[in-house]
Amino acid sequence: MKKQMELLYRLQTIDSNIKRSEALQRQFEEEVGRLQAELDAEVEKSTAVRQEVDALAKKHREHEAALKVLEDQKRKVQEKMMAIKTNKEYAAAQHEISSIEQAIGKKEEEIILAMDAVESTKALTASAEAAMQESRRRFDAKKQQAETQLRDYLDDIERQRQARENLLQEIKPDMLKTYQQLHKARNGVAVALADNEHCFGCSMKIPPQLYNEVVQGDHLHTCPHCRRILYVDRGAAEGQQPA
Ligand SMILES: [Zn+2]
Repeated sequence: MKKQMELLYRLQTIDSNIKRSEALQRQFEEEVGRLQAELDAEVEKSTAVRQEVDALAKKHREHEAALKVLEDQKRKVQEKMMAIKTNKEYAAAQHEISSIEQAIGKKEEEIILAMDAVESTKALTASAEAAMQESRRRFDAKKQQAETQLRDYLDDIERQRQARENLLQEIKPDMLKTYQQLHKARNGVAVALADNEHCFGCSMKIPPQLYNEVVQGDHLHTCPHCRRILYVDRGAAEGQQPA
């Protein structure tokens, strides 16, 4: 019986380790997924800012081209003025020039505004780029960590599963059935360590008589409070619990 109790306790330890490794694996996967989403958002933001700079630069070039057209127009009218004979034609040409000059003035203001817009948006590009790089660095680091550390966890789970399989062969069917029922009903902890007349599954006091019987280990005993199988591990340090 003592041997069977020890096997049950080893089974509990393995099951707890597997559960912990699986939780760590999920945690890693969630973290990598979260950082991936963060990186995607930063890439999107950075791309949007760059596209805005391109659009503003295009607008700036268009204004410059329009200014050149206006300046050409003005030059043509000035050339035409050389050949003008009448005052009426001269006045008309002067009127034309002043309206072109007005348009040129307006266009020059637009060019200054467009240049300012390009410059301020370019400044945003730098910070968006930096945020993206930082996000990528975090993602890469976590992914790298997940790949090495997680592989160790997965290897560990695999080893534990193998040991578990071997263990199951040695445990008596009725003992195993009790274990499995409790494992399911008691949140993955079927075997609780007992020490100093206390159950570590529920932290409650165990009657002295029962505790003595648990220490002797000749029968399977369960905690009167949480119903878990009680086990005294003489080799383990006080307070150690496979949960
Ligand atoms: Zn208990």
